[in-house]
Amino acid sequence: MTSAALPFRVGLGYDIHRFIEGRPLVLGGVTIPHSRGLDGHSDADALSHAVADAILGALALPDIGHLFPNNDPTIKGIDSQKIIQRAVELAHEHGYEIGNIDVALIAEEPKIAPHLSAMKERLAASLRVTPDRVGIKATTNEKIGDLGRRAGIAAHAVAMLLRREA
Ligand code: MG
Repeated sequence: MTSAALPFRVGLGYDIHRFIEGRPLVLGGVTIPHSRGLDGHSDADALSHAVADAILGALALPDIGHLFPNNDPTIKGIDSQKIIQRAVELAHEHGYEIGNIDVALIAEEPKIAPHLSAMKERLAASLRVTPDRVGIKATTNEKIGDLGRRAGIAAHAVAMLLRREA
């Protein structure tokens, strides 16, 4: 069966990183003042990783671990906006642009609300859309489970891609 180009495609992304001492906390491309950061091979921006995976998922492509392997020393500490930008390039190459993105961030700490508009601006620039296409909601885990005990931060994201006009 052949696959006609869909007018839109939707994708889901999820990521989680654990807290660690001695690293900056980067979420949505914004460095947030906090006593701990997130552990990871990149800047550990779990929110941005979920967004990139949502885009790649919408394209039915392999996830960011394939594009940016976590054992590749040349990308150690990479700015995760570069990962999103690569996912957006792939969307464009496949004939799609970003329609909108929505994110649910789960963080017991720190307070995210003061940083939401900066995160939306930064993500929108990487996604090459206006900030009104980027939704971010932050919630706690109500002290339940490992996230509730402040072991780390998790993010869920959905991405809607729109077929570009030929
Ligand atoms: Mg990650």
